[in-house]
Amino acid sequence: MYGRERASELRERYPHAREVLGLYLALVEVWEAADPGGEASLTWAAAEVLPRVMAATVASGPRPLAEAVADRTDGVELLAAWMAGEDLTPVERFLARATMRVVPPSKGEGSGRAAGRCPQCGGPPQVSYRAASDDPLVSGRRALACARCPNEWNFSATTCPNCGETGKRTVHAETGHNAKPAIGRHEATPEALFPQLRAESCETCQRYLIDVDLARDPEAVPRVDELAAVPLDLHMAEQGYTKITPNLMGF
Ligand SMILES: [Zn+2]
Ligand SMILES: [Zn+2]
Repeated sequence: MYGRERASELRERYPHAREVLGLYLALVEVWEAADPGGEASLTWAAAEVLPRVMAATVASGPRPLAEAVADRTDGVELLAAWMAGEDLTPVERFLARATMRVVPPSKGEGSGRAAGRCPQCGGPPQVSYRAASDDPLVSGRRALACARCPNEWNFSATTCPNCGETGKRTVHAETGHNAKPAIGRHEATPEALFPQLRAESCETCQRYLIDVDLARDPEAVPRVDELAAVPLDLHMAEQGYTKITPNLMGF
């Protein structure tokens, strides 16, 4: 359910993502071993999961992150602050997100929130994806995956999930080896590094989201593939766009 196999495969395919996906795989070990046995409370997560997330990060994380985590003594206050949407440092955000991955959201927290937000918990979308389909009525439909909880929901393919703008959207896709991402929807070339990934930006709010096309790679796991999109993220930053919300690893 965490895309362990996909993460191992992409770690081999994408040298630029080796460290990030290595840390992700270490976190998958922690998540798979975490068993709330009934109710998954913040107290349980702080006592049982957070210390393991820290240990995995120290052992497998990129050096700056591992060093930043090494002497922290975070507990339930950090998780509560994350849940309350308080401003956290990037390291705190990473620890809280990696820990809360195993805690299901309480139902109804997202009701009444803005469009483009998770109907379950009110969190922002992390990644968007289109299912593989030959049915023209279904193709073009897309789903958003929540950054705060495991929920995914259908959302208009032509609307910005951040500001609701329905026009002025641009697709940035990589077109070939060593090529800069270009604007527009292109046929994937065989040597394309990311045939399954593109960035979709909104010209009104200058935000973007990585979009995963499962028709081009049915094996893709949107939340895992999104972690490997760093070169696209760097390109988007150069163009002046900001991701709707950074991913688990802070990109
Ligand atoms: Zn959610
Ligand atoms: Zn927008």
